[in-house]
Amino acid sequence: MSNIAHDHAEEYIRSLIKEPNDLQNELRKYAEENNVPIVHKEVAQFLRVLIKSNNIKRILEVGTAIGYSSILMAEAAGSGAKIVTIERDENMYDIAIENIKKAGLEDRIEVIKGDALDVLNNIQDTFDMIFIDGAKGHYSEMLKIVTKILKKNGIVFSDNVLFRGMVCSDELLIRRKITIVKRMRKYLKELSESNIFETVILPVGDGVALSTKIKEE
Ligand code: SAH
Ligand code: MG
Repeated sequence: MSNIAHDHAEEYIRSLIKEPNDLQNELRKYAEENNVPIVHKEVAQFLRVLIKSNNIKRILEVGTAIGYSSILMAEAAGSGAKIVTIERDENMYDIAIENIKKAGLEDRIEVIKGDALDVLNNIQDTFDMIFIDGAKGHYSEMLKIVTKILKKNGIVFSDNVLFRGMVCSDELLIRRKITIVKRMRKYLKELSESNIFETVILPVGDGVALSTKIKEE
């Protein structure tokens, strides 16, 4: 399935995870039917546990799509949460706004329309967590911009870092993904060698990297 975790493990783990409400169910179904690449079920659950266990309230997200992960993170973070999320696709942006309204979370989620590389430079607030899940070829550039607006001990959660296994093995690599894959490998190497972040890369979902900021730049 994902070319990352063994199918039997992945299927079993997914079978134990229930979406917490009808809207999340509906959004996951919509995403599957319309090929919108939302977080895998086990990554969604990982985010919920991480947010709740660390009392994470302020989250910056790159890549809103239909708002599925924004909504799940806002619900996990609870009252007082603030999610700022960036989406460049007009159609996705409109759908996300509608879904966030349906969830009644307009007060907790702010969607910014635009290219993340432009928008990120103008964000002044600080965040407990940064969820990078868009602009797959530009994680490294985005990390440089967001490092200064992440609180000390805050978390950068990078999704899709193993990219259907292609990042791990040239045997899985398809030609038109070579650039993205090379950039992702460079990003993971940078994170692993950084003295500002401590990082763990996990074969969960499509591969995630979890990095905590251990010192200011
Ligand atoms: N986080 C979502 C899924 C995001 S899919 C979820 O799990 O529910 C990735 C999204 O990033 C797509 O909707 C795509 O339009 C958006 N995207 C890609 N490149 C971008 C960029 N440079 N700036 C802003 N959004 C971008
Ligand atoms: Mg993703």
